[in-house]
Amino acid sequence: MNTQKLAEVIAAIAKTIEENKEFLTQLDNEIGDGDHGINLARGFAAVEQKLPTWANTDIGTLLKGVGMQLVSTVGGASGPLYGTAFMKAGMACKGMTELDGPAFAAAMEAAVEGIKMRGKATEGEKTMLDALCPALRAVKAAVESGKSLKEALQDGAAAAEQGVAYTKTIIATKGRASYLGERSLGYQDPGATSSWYMLRTMAEHIDE
Ligand code: ADP
Ligand code: MG
Ligand code: MG
Repeated sequence: MNTQKLAEVIAAIAKTIEENKEFLTQLDNEIGDGDHGINLARGFAAVEQKLPTWANTDIGTLLKGVGMQLVSTVGGASGPLYGTAFMKAGMACKGMTELDGPAFAAAMEAAVEGIKMRGKATEGEKTMLDALCPALRAVKAAVESGKSLKEALQDGAAAAEQGVAYTKTIIATKGRASYLGERSLGYQDPGATSSWYMLRTMAEHIDE
């Protein structure tokens, strides 16, 4: 995948977030403050506007730009977290003009590590990490077994979907939902859900 294609994939993510912003906000209404979809849609709309300015750069510059834009426009907990993720991925792809399976897996690993560090969270705390960590493991396993980037992302998205279902079964110990304690049980985490949507959109829009 080249820079142009990645920009198209990011535009597709912006569209998915916009289409699902009400549902994401509704999920956040149940266990948070009801702004996750609105926050993310505002951020990705700003990203989409800036995409043409990165069209002739490299993958690292594009991803870093996306991250910086998200940090400055999304707000809340998820803005700095997703922003850090894209910026870390960008640093892992510095100067690259082609993204293949192994490079994607390395970039995703840097992104997930960045989220863990920034949010001081780990798996099992009912956050976006419960979608992203299993997804990363699936992507790495797929790449190691020689699957294409598209197949790896399909496996990653499937693992993220299962991770979203898992968040319904656990109590939140990070973020606003943690204020609810046991009352957070039974609800799916909004950030895990948006992470799953992003991976699913990438899998759908990447060429074979
Ligand atoms: P806020 O809670 O500030 O309103 P959002 O609603 O945009 O922010 O995002 C909430 C999501 O952020 C949660 O559903 C969760 O997935 C994620 N989140 C919150 N805190 C953390 C954390 N410390 N580490 C990882 N993810 C987190
Ligand atoms: Mg919120
Ligand atoms: Mg908020």
